[in-house]
Amino acid sequence: MEIPRLNVAVVGAAIGGASVALLLARAGASVALFERVAHPRAIGAGIALAPNGLAVLRGLDLEPALRDRGRPLSSPRIVGDVGRTLLAPLLPRRGDGLDQLLVIRRSDLHRVLLEAATEHERIALHLGVEITDATADASIRARHDVDDTWRSFDLVVGADGVRSSVREHLDVGARVRGSGITYVRTLTTVTEAEGVEAWTRAGIFGSLPLPNGAYLYASSGSPALRAALAARDLDALRRAWEAAYPPAGRLLGGVARFEDLLLNEVVRVDCERFVDGRVALLGDAAHAMAPNLGQGANSALVDAAVLLGALRDADDVASALVSYDARRRPAVRWVQNQSDRLGRISERSDAAWRTLRDRLLMPALSRFAPDPSLRTYQEPLDALLDMSAPGQSSDVLR
Ligand SMILES: Cc1cc2nc3c(=O)[nH]c(=O)nc-3n(C[C@H](O)[C@H](O)[C@H](O)COP(=O)(O)OP(=O)(O)OC[C@H]3O[C@@H](n4cnc5c(N)ncnc54)[C@H](O)[C@@H]3O)c2cc1C
Repeated sequence: MEIPRLNVAVVGAAIGGASVALLLARAGASVALFERVAHPRAIGAGIALAPNGLAVLRGLDLEPALRDRGRPLSSPRIVGDVGRTLLAPLLPRRGDGLDQLLVIRRSDLHRVLLEAATEHERIALHLGVEITDATADASIRARHDVDDTWRSFDLVVGADGVRSSVREHLDVGARVRGSGITYVRTLTTVTEAEGVEAWTRAGIFGSLPLPNGAYLYASSGSPALRAALAARDLDALRRAWEAAYPPAGRLLGGVARFEDLLLNEVVRVDCERFVDGRVALLGDAAHAMAPNLGQGANSALVDAAVLLGALRDADDVASALVSYDARRRPAVRWVQNQSDRLGRISERSDAAWRTLRDRLLMPALSRFAPDPSLRTYQEPLDALLDMSAPGQSSDVLR
């Protein structure tokens, strides 16, 4: 299909929305990018970009700017609370930088994406505009549009997150489920991050290095942690972590105020379809997942590249979206299920199970699990590079 003829609306200008807007605009489409927040300020502390997400960002020529602001992590590990390695996820052996994670502050990632979108001549960025209605024939309406002011496009992409209002108006069979698990995320100036995720009796505690600091994330499994969060008491939280896993207490020492912590319940979104007519869902709007494989945002980046590839290869928008859906939904569903499974294995607190898990289950998993990276990353990395490179007339989806 001739991408330059397309008039596209993208709803949501975070990681998924900004990257699909950039990919489409670089392929020649005219893109209207709507973001309800007037002055976007990225929340979410930090993020680990995996090889699949990085491949798409490399295709967008944003990798150097991101590497300047982030820290590579070549051997991420999951450890038990006495430091024994439980799982060392396999990374591809490539030698080209797509064989590591890149840990970065979310504010830096969002800034790099939004600056690129602002500078692109084919992207019109509408900040402070909330889209409240959408129809399958690619029309949308904003909160302040009066009466029947609908804006019509050739394609609408709903990248408006877990509470997507685009999704609400589509026939996609969506199910949104809370997990009851709250995660705490924050940034600290303490620089001795361990670069590991610890599965402790109180829950998960991860610390990943950043330039001049660290990104910390933690689940809140024990009653003491839950009580500290309910009371909004940073000292009590620090003490509870100190007791369960001493390195956590030290790292949390660099956090000044409870308000510097970001609290989120883990939510899963399942859709029977990612598309309806000429509207496609992407990122958390389509498939929010547990954070245990670190693939939520990375999967949104893969969605963006596959959507562009599908548009290039199809004769019209509706059939492109059918192949986008067929390719993405099973791939992401597998990752969502694995993330849930990992979450369940990691969160159990009973001592007998944990001993069994750490001594028997995890060594067996590490030994016998096939290289999970291809399924975790959902697309071959070279295909992602091809799909997201500018000017590619792609037949990589075939
Ligand atoms: C504890 C935790 C840790 C995580 N760690 C990782 C990790 O290391 N790696 C990883 O890949 N993923 C991680 N994730 C998942 C990741 O944060 C999400 O998958 C990702 O941010 C989703 O991006 P998105 O662009 O789809 O949606 P969002 O980031 O939710 O963005 C949606 C955007 O749409 C805008 N919007 C919403 N409604 C409207 C509207 N009606 N009109 C206009 N604009 C609208 C919002 O303001 C927002 O800017 C983690 C998640 C959690 C909870």
